[in-house]
Amino acid sequence: MYFYKIALLILLLLIQSGNVAASNNLPDMGSSINKLFPLNIEQEVGDQYMRMLRQQLPVVNDPQIRDYINELGFRLVAANEDAKDRQFYFFVINDASINAFAMPGGYIGVNSGLIQNAESESELAGVMAHEIAHVTQRHLARRLETQSQLSIPTMIAAVASMLVMTQNAEAGIAAMTTIQAGATQTMINHTRSNEAEADRIGIVTLASAGYNPLGMSRFFERLLQLSRYSGKRLAFLSTHPLNQNRITESRDRAMSLKFKSKADNFNFNLFKERLSSFLPRDYKPVKRAFEVQLAKFKPHQIPTSLEFGYALTINKLNQHYKAEKILQKLSNRYPTNLYFSLALAEIQIDGGNPQVTITSLEKKYHLNPGNDSITMTYARALLEDDQVKLALDVLYEHLPKVEEEPFIYEIMAEAQSRDGLFKEVSESTGLHLYYSGDLSGALSQFKQAMIGRSDDPYFNARILARIRKVQREMLHNR
Ligand SMILES: [Zn+2]
Repeated sequence: MYFYKIALLILLLLIQSGNVAASNNLPDMGSSINKLFPLNIEQEVGDQYMRMLRQQLPVVNDPQIRDYINELGFRLVAANEDAKDRQFYFFVINDASINAFAMPGGYIGVNSGLIQNAESESELAGVMAHEIAHVTQRHLARRLETQSQLSIPTMIAAVASMLVMTQNAEAGIAAMTTIQAGATQTMINHTRSNEAEADRIGIVTLASAGYNPLGMSRFFERLLQLSRYSGKRLAFLSTHPLNQNRITESRDRAMSLKFKSKADNFNFNLFKERLSSFLPRDYKPVKRAFEVQLAKFKPHQIPTSLEFGYALTINKLNQHYKAEKILQKLSNRYPTNLYFSLALAEIQIDGGNPQVTITSLEKKYHLNPGNDSITMTYARALLEDDQVKLALDVLYEHLPKVEEEPFIYEIMAEAQSRDGLFKEVSESTGLHLYYSGDLSGALSQFKQAMIGRSDDPYFNARILARIRKVQREMLHNR
């Protein structure tokens, strides 16, 4: 029912913009799409949907994971002429199923299961370049448009199941059978021509961004084989129908393109290891599997990512000291690589020894202003070291860069509460809930912040504005 509500919201927004999907004679594609689904409406729908999605799905909040996926995403955006004036937001979902999807408003999600199955940065970039093209070509809006002769209830059902489908094929299929079958299927699947267009554009984007343009077809080939051998229905393939023909076509196209490789598989493999360490699972067999792998190499020939993954795994099993030793060694060998030094710092902070890492974090913080991963780790270290005021200064300064990210408000509330700023704690908790999609929770926190007298008129005005904003949105959703 939850998704039904979102679909209603989308429809409401469409109606409010005075563009009810009911007309029979449609003018040419481009202008009619802008009328039916103007970009600003698409953005608003996307923003709200993203906040709701956070409530339903485990979006990875780790700054290093976010930094990686955004760096990769925006490098592709910079290489796609049509993408430059659009907004984008990339995120990873902590889910082992293989999926990637684009939502209205330039939100592009990739499941960790898909990332684990990519063997190079160019392969992951291939999927993302393809999804970016779906956004720039406005395929989602176009699909809505082609269905605009449908009755409104059918359209709502279609949008609802389409949105479920973007996350989970099984749930999407279940939703379809309970809501409506038939007509909806055509809307959920990207059409063949949309797929071909996204492939074409994506391959060119890959090459101009410095990735191997064969990355896309290689990865698609692997997904196709995986679905054949495992007999499983891959979520990605149910929204992006794949066949051998299409793969051959994209391979041929890629072969004709020149590129200057900038792909970084060293960091890609470290990113994959870090991401794996967030999957909720039994780490004992994972550790044994690592040990089998490690035994195959002579000590000085062990691949770095393997050793890194092993350190993160044993740390999960509370072997902190041993993990720390490995990370210290890797950190010494690669002093500028953040994956090693920040993982090491985290173990030291969690172990109650922030003092040993704080000086080096402070140095990194000043050398890399605005870096999310460094800033957040530094703030955590300061907090653990009881330097609450300095931690707050660091967080406040960083806030404008990440103000729509729920995670920043959690640590902020903790720092504020330790500084006795209880009204601010309510505000931060409210913002955390708001950006996580919990409107009524946010509202009650903001109201809490208004209780009692505040000497700061700006604070009161700000909270009042927040309350009004949430109330307006709640009204919309109803
Ligand atoms: Zn596609």
